[in-house]
Amino acid sequence: MRTVITGGAGFVGSHLCERFLAEGDEVVCVDNLLTGHRRNIVHVLSNPRFHFIEHNISEPLQVDGPVDNVLHFASPASPADYLAHPIPTLKVGSLGTHNALGLAKAKEARFLLASTSEVYGDPEVHPQREDYWGHVNPIGPRGCYDEAKRFAEAITMAYHRYHGVRTRIVRIFNTYGPRMRLNDGRVLPAFMSQVLRGEPLTVFGQGEQTRSFCYVTDLVDGIYRLLHADFSEPVNIGNPSEITVLELAKEIIAMVPETKSTIVYKDLPQDDPKRRRPDITRAQTLLGWNPTIDRAEGLQRTLEYFRSVVER
Ligand code: UDP
Repeated sequence: MRTVITGGAGFVGSHLCERFLAEGDEVVCVDNLLTGHRRNIVHVLSNPRFHFIEHNISEPLQVDGPVDNVLHFASPASPADYLAHPIPTLKVGSLGTHNALGLAKAKEARFLLASTSEVYGDPEVHPQREDYWGHVNPIGPRGCYDEAKRFAEAITMAYHRYHGVRTRIVRIFNTYGPRMRLNDGRVLPAFMSQVLRGEPLTVFGQGEQTRSFCYVTDLVDGIYRLLHADFSEPVNIGNPSEITVLELAKEIIAMVPETKSTIVYKDLPQDDPKRRRPDITRAQTLLGWNPTIDRAEGLQRTLEYFRSVVER
């Protein structure tokens, strides 16, 4: 099998590259390194089945030879990143998805779209099931990401219905693990770098908002199963274990008993979703998938990774 992965030098993308290489595939990684980084793929560059193309998928891409799968993961994905790059975010969700779908159609390949729990916006239904249409502010600061991904889902379904492309849509909930950027602005790298440096943990608002965190290898396993299932509607992949941001801060402080870190409260960003938790019934029944790594284990592994990065 020959698998093209856009965003393959990013956090999730690089773990996907590893998984497909481990399955024996040839992997073509396409990334413009806007938020991805060469260090995420440096350990696979010498693998003869791995090829890296530095390219912005918002521009058309020709790939020589056969392609069996196209996985479209290119996009800034942390709120701080897409606030800093709103137009590239809108372009990669729209033009980039169009180009990636065009490649899949030309090669008669399967196509998998990385969508997001952000399509549910600040949800009025809890937990979120795939048949919930969402509550999104199109003109708010998160609109550039949310609406780009909603457009991406729409064009993916159009290619499926009109052109008969075998498409898959995964709605990814909060994911964490090694290779997240220390300064990507997301809550977990922020809290971990703060606790390791003895700085106060910056809790936004009162920290009553919730998230549900999935360890990256569990996510990758769900994606791998979905790609090989015959199902074109969206599937949530995430860990339903829900926690408030304040509780998360306390859990992370407790992991480093010698830390001097305390908690400081900062303003809650506009349109910050109040509650988020996936209903994973569809993934369980359709894919036989369940997360296997609980938060205690996943946080420990991730803290070890961030410790090595902070000390470097
Ligand atoms: N958050 C926080 N402190 C930080 C960064 C984020 O309290 O230093 C909060 C943020 O307001 C949100 C949650 O943590 O409620 C998760 O934010 P993140 O940026 O990780 O991603 P999101 O789930 O909002 O896309």
